[in-house]
Amino acid sequence: MQMLLAGEWVDRAETIDVRDPFDDSLIDTVPSASHDDVETALAAAFAARETARKMTTYDRCRILLRTAAIVAERVEEFATIIAREGSKTIIEARKEANRTVNTLTISAEEAKRLNGETIPFDSFPGGEQRRGHFERVPIGVVLAITPFNDPLNLVAHKLGPAIAGGNAVILKPATVTPLSALRLTEAFLEAGLPGDVLQTLTGHGAVLGDALVSDERVRMVSFTGGLEAGKHITTKAGLKKIGMELGSNSPVVVWKDADIEWAAETCVSGAFWAAGQNCIGVQRIFIHREVYDRFRDLFVERTNAYTIGDKMDETTDMGPMITEAEAERVERWINEAVDKGATVAAGGSRTGTLVQPTVLENVPAEATIHYEEVFGPTVNLYPFDDLDDAIARANSADYGLHAAGFARDVEVCFRLAEGLDAGSVLINDSTDYRLDSMPFGGVKGSGLGKEGVRFSLHEMTEPKVVCWYLPNL
Ligand code: NAP
Repeated sequence: MQMLLAGEWVDRAETIDVRDPFDDSLIDTVPSASHDDVETALAAAFAARETARKMTTYDRCRILLRTAAIVAERVEEFATIIAREGSKTIIEARKEANRTVNTLTISAEEAKRLNGETIPFDSFPGGEQRRGHFERVPIGVVLAITPFNDPLNLVAHKLGPAIAGGNAVILKPATVTPLSALRLTEAFLEAGLPGDVLQTLTGHGAVLGDALVSDERVRMVSFTGGLEAGKHITTKAGLKKIGMELGSNSPVVVWKDADIEWAAETCVSGAFWAAGQNCIGVQRIFIHREVYDRFRDLFVERTNAYTIGDKMDETTDMGPMITEAEAERVERWINEAVDKGATVAAGGSRTGTLVQPTVLENVPAEATIHYEEVFGPTVNLYPFDDLDDAIARANSADYGLHAAGFARDVEVCFRLAEGLDAGSVLINDSTDYRLDSMPFGGVKGSGLGKEGVRFSLHEMTEPKVVCWYLPNL
């Protein structure tokens, strides 16, 4: 596919192969953008911010709703692209395509609710003859950088609010999964978005990133990805807004009176969705010692029942990891934990990009898989005796995106909700639940700022005050 630069679909002599991680087959190629392309994109976006700002709310809504309708009409096509270029099974990919329709629809709805307020200037002496208000105005140029694991919906989470807010956008999708983003870009243009308001540049973040991120014409960098790249971007960004949606190693606490069957069922799905390549995937489960064996047995039984392999097969539960290098890293982390004393209760091995869904016990605190984000299909089980101790252990990680607790006792539920340090706490559900309109974002190493359409829209607009001096009032 071509990339969209300054209103034109363009090719480049240097290209990047987009391959299916299941069988390494070539799906397509995309241009590898150069530094000259970055400069062209920045200049075009800076000029296009006027076009974007002047689009009426009616037009922004109409374009967003039409784009949502195009995705809805072609859900199967979008799902197939997501499944082929990424790690998701076709069942998982369909869910993402349908969520994208919702994300774009909410973006249109929220554009209509972008209200200001009147300001009581007479609330301090000297302001008696002043009247005024603030409205929310576009910030100008938004740079959106997205990861591979939700290659369509996480793009919509940036483009939807940016366009709803009247901004020009440069999108830099993940290099391994650019096709979903390019198809969505096509849909926006088909829906009537002026071609220079959105540009989608394909190319390596490590090569193009600094020039994009540090440019003063960009007023906000909205980044979703890993902690390492996120930290790097914050050092380069300079004077501009940044939104950081980073990773996690989400904890779950299972109290002794919980519905153990449900907890095991939903946490297995939460751990292995998208082969664990999920920022809110379950990674660490703390289980009250009285119910530990029962939970472990149910969890292992369900894990062993998983079918892994061909993503396009409707009966496959879990697909491959995004690259063989990533699968090798997860295998290395499992082996390191085992060398340090962990035991494997299920899975533990790898073939090519396929890592078996893996359950570990007795994982020591020194093992990387205990304290780092694994971003793969493995989960650690730990027994506990005391609730406060379990909450403290859950909070001991440097991340805090989602956390979850299972209990029937309402006071225990409240202690979990108040004690777990995360952007969201799920009660009687796994960490792997998100509504696209809710505030979403983490604490500590999981990020800064909030997404979720209304919250992104606020980040991508700013209040502008209009104050009238009326001496004859
Ligand atoms: P990644 O390696 O950090 O890459 C994310 C994006 O950043 C890609 O487009 C990448 O481009 C780009 N990038 C890399 N280095 C850059 C630099 N120096 N300057 C500018 N851009 C740069 O992450 P990933 O492997 O794609 O995704 C996995 C991570 O994302 C996990 O940590 C996961 O938890 C996190 N995530 C967070 C959320 C959330 O909402 N909190 C959601 C999903 C995923 P290239 O592809 O060209 O390298």
